[in-house]
Amino acid sequence: MSARIIDGKALAETIKADVAGRVQSLKKTGIVPGLAVVLVGDDPASQVYVRNKAAACEKAGLHSRVIRLAADITEASLLDHVRTLNDDDAVHGILVQLPLPSHMNAARVIETIAAAKDVDGFHVSNAGLLMTGQPLFRPCTPYGIMKMLESEDVDLWGAEAVVVGASNIVGKPMAMLMLAKGATVTLCNSKTRDLGAHTRRADVLVVATGKPGIVKGDMIKPGAVVIDVGINRNAQGKLEGDVDFESACLVAGAITPVPGGVGPMTIAMLLVNTLEAAERSATLQPA
Ligand code: NDP
Repeated sequence: MSARIIDGKALAETIKADVAGRVQSLKKTGIVPGLAVVLVGDDPASQVYVRNKAAACEKAGLHSRVIRLAADITEASLLDHVRTLNDDDAVHGILVQLPLPSHMNAARVIETIAAAKDVDGFHVSNAGLLMTGQPLFRPCTPYGIMKMLESEDVDLWGAEAVVVGASNIVGKPMAMLMLAKGATVTLCNSKTRDLGAHTRRADVLVVATGKPGIVKGDMIKPGAVVIDVGINRNAQGKLEGDVDFESACLVAGAITPVPGGVGPMTIAMLLVNTLEAAERSATLQPA
């Protein structure tokens, strides 16, 4: 048996084309959706992510602005930049690229972003809204995964869903989104005893740990849908996921590749969130 490959890149292109169309409609009302990305320091991976996000915005007709700040900037000064963006009507979405330098409190920085512009969906208000079933912004990576499951016609109602990794930005919101669709969700972390006993029960398995090869074929239920969020660079400099792709393909029913799976979807959903923030601001404007 060989798993069907879920083409995140192709689905992301379809979503971005739809965004581009909606951006054109919104522009007719005089509003150009705008995303501001704040990059602190010169982490090479972050630089690539920020470049890709800005390029995707421009291609879909959104306005993007990158604010590059030195690694040794004070937290107070960063917060001032964020507050300025909060007050800027041309900016509908604000994203502070993580990780931040160690002298900064990332939670405090995220809480300073206006919740209505928090297109990453990391603000506690947005996390709380998601948890209580009234999401405003869904975090982009789990949101993209939900779109992929939808495109694969995966029925989550009553399904066993297992998420490996419980971060605030991927694992926890992923669990909430699948729970909201009727799945029975197990959320594993580094303390989980006998990980395989959990993963083998999963009809839908999402792996987001940053540990290459943590899930192997013998830990997967035959026919399961496997979503690999991990992005790891191996000794040869090639990108690989958290799932051992070769052995997983022999067991899974469908699987996302790395690269070309979850990654492109994350950017597509950032555009969706920014567009929707702008659309909401349009409805709030006085006639
Ligand atoms: P974090 O480091 O914030 O969280 C990792 C999670 O994995 C933690 O909950 C941790 O458990 C858990 N974990 C670690 N080791 C194990 C283990 N042996 N068994 C079970 N759980 C374990 O990572 P992120 O969530 O930010 O990212 C995860 C991966 O996804 C990374 O490779 C990252 O690069 C990638 N990523 C990809 C994106 C994309 O667009 N494709 C977007 C975001 C992330 P504990 O809570 O106990 O510490």
